[in-house]
Amino acid sequence: MSHLHFAHSLWQAQVRPEDVVIDATCGNGHDTLFLSGLVPAGKVFAFDIQEKAIQNTRELLKKHGREERVALFQKSHVELRGVPSPPRLIVYNLGYLPGGDKGVTTQTNTTLESVRVSLEILPKESALSITCYPGHSEGEREEKALVEFLATLPSHQWTIRYHQWVNRLKAPSLFWIVRS
Ligand code: SAH
Repeated sequence: MSHLHFAHSLWQAQVRPEDVVIDATCGNGHDTLFLSGLVPAGKVFAFDIQEKAIQNTRELLKKHGREERVALFQKSHVELRGVPSPPRLIVYNLGYLPGGDKGVTTQTNTTLESVRVSLEILPKESALSITCYPGHSEGEREEKALVEFLATLPSHQWTIRYHQWVNRLKAPSLFWIVRS
C-alpha cells in the first residue's frame, strides 16, 4: 500500500458529501482533486503560497470539471482561520512542490503556527491529517517539532495517532488527529 492510498482511505472514511474540507498545502493539486471528489455537495478550500502551485491546481481541477467545488487561495496556511464554515477535515502535505523549487518548503515555525490555528477551528469529531517528509532536513525538524507539540495536547480532547512505515527508507509519516 502506498502512503497516498493509506492517507486517502482515512480521509474517505472521515468526510461526508456535504462537508467542508481544507487543503492547507495544495501543491500540484492531486490531493485537492481527490478531496473535491469526496464532497459533491460541499466545498474544498485550498491554500498554497506559490503561484505555480495555485496555477497547477486550477488546471488540474478544470480538466476534471471540479473547479466550482474548490476555492483556491494564494496565501499562507497561517491564514486559514478566514474559512467561512467549520471544516470536517484539514489536510497538510508538507515539504516542497514536486517538480518545483526545492528551496520553497514548508517551515517548522509556520507549520506549527498554522497547526495551532487548525486545532482552534476544528469542530468536534473533525480531523487533521499531516503528512511529513523526514527524508530531508527541514522535514525532519518539522516532524520532531510536531511530535513534541502534539504530545502536549490533552488526551480527553484529542485522539492523536502517528503512523510510520518501518521498513521503508525516507518514507513519509502521518499524524491523524481527531477532536473528541
Ligand atoms: N512533498 C509533497 C508535496 C508537498 S507540496 C509530495 O511529495 O507530494 C507542499 C506545498 O506547500 C508546496 O507547494 C509549497 O508551496 C506549499 N507551502 C509552503 N509553505 C506554505 C505555507 N506557509 N502556506 C501554504 N502552503 C505552503
